[in-house]
Amino acid sequence: MLNILIVGNGQCGNRILDAINKEAFGGKSKFAKFYSQQKYKSKVETIAINTAINDLKELSFTKAKDRMHIPHLHGVGANRTLGKSVFEENKSHIMRNIEERGNFDVGFVITSASGGTGSSFTPPLIKEIKENHDFPVYAVVVLPFREEGTLYLQNAAFCLKEIRDSGVDGIILADNQFLKQIGGNVQSAYNTINDMIARRILFLLDALDSEMMMVTDLGDFKTVMSGGAGLATIGFYEAEKGMNIKTTIQKALSPNGLLFSTDVYKEGSRAMVIIKGDKSYLSIDEISSEVEKLSSSVGHVFKGIIVRKGETPQVLVVLTLEAAEELENLYSVAVDAIHQEREKKTRVEEQKEIDKAFSQIDGLEPNY
Ligand code: GDP
Repeated sequence: MLNILIVGNGQCGNRILDAINKEAFGGKSKFAKFYSQQKYKSKVETIAINTAINDLKELSFTKAKDRMHIPHLHGVGANRTLGKSVFEENKSHIMRNIEERGNFDVGFVITSASGGTGSSFTPPLIKEIKENHDFPVYAVVVLPFREEGTLYLQNAAFCLKEIRDSGVDGIILADNQFLKQIGGNVQSAYNTINDMIARRILFLLDALDSEMMMVTDLGDFKTVMSGGAGLATIGFYEAEKGMNIKTTIQKALSPNGLLFSTDVYKEGSRAMVIIKGDKSYLSIDEISSEVEKLSSSVGHVFKGIIVRKGETPQVLVVLTLEAAEELENLYSVAVDAIHQEREKKTRVEEQKEIDKAFSQIDGLEPNY
């Protein structure tokens, strides 16, 4: 049995954590958290951390003991400098909360890259865990819609770089912009995206702690995640009626299944393919031919099969990337945003000259 830590930082991280708890407690009922047992086989500890109390209050499936409020009037806005200093002031309190929950085999920290609290707490939190513990820590990072504005874009660029430098064992990317193809209004898009991410993480946890027909375990996951440029994404697909396993694997690797825009065959570095379902669907020949196709362009592919009586086949792919064209695009937009913010700041400085002009009449009265 694995001991797993999942931290959700900031509003986006909190909500995805809540979606994980929803799935884990059997979903549906708001009261599930009060009486039901988690469906996890592993021992999973979840903590939602936020400076904004209202974001924590909004959670429906995360227990009160798992919500940690870091008081700072009205959150930190999108100001990462402020956010980082709030984290520093509360670091020992946060670390104590984590440490009181025991030892872990693996940890996940979920955040958006672009807001204030999550994006500024996550890099130093991971650094702190890595310096004091020896379990692997993976960041699950949500990238912003590109039209959300210059502050969010520049935050995303700096946050992602700082997470990479934090000692993290790998970053799993999910991109709101890419996932917005799902459609609907923003709130329902968020919920759908959060459920997609939650489902993939729970599938992964289930797979890492299962007795499979062909085994993949935490060791294999670590090997996959250490490949490539430290960046990864996850694909998932549940077979539709009558769909064979070959097509289901292909769908998990296509834009339909991935959380981040990538051409798997061009940018992939290492992969782990996990297939779960009733034995009757699991044609070993079809699975092998698809996995071979992937490994011929990606390099090493670990394969795991979990036989579950009566279950529709589902495929999960963890894929590390050696290149990420979409991320390069994001950084070039972010650089423009940083320049725009700098120019704006200069303009504000110039405004101060105007203030100086006004101040010349301070203390004077008009004479008629
Ligand atoms: P924080 O609370 O200060 O850390 O800020 P947020 O987590 O709200 O960060 C803002 C970013 O997160 C924006 O890019 C939003 O689009 C995104 N975001 C906020 N809430 C959600 C959510 O529930 N799901 C997803 N996928 N993205 C979200």
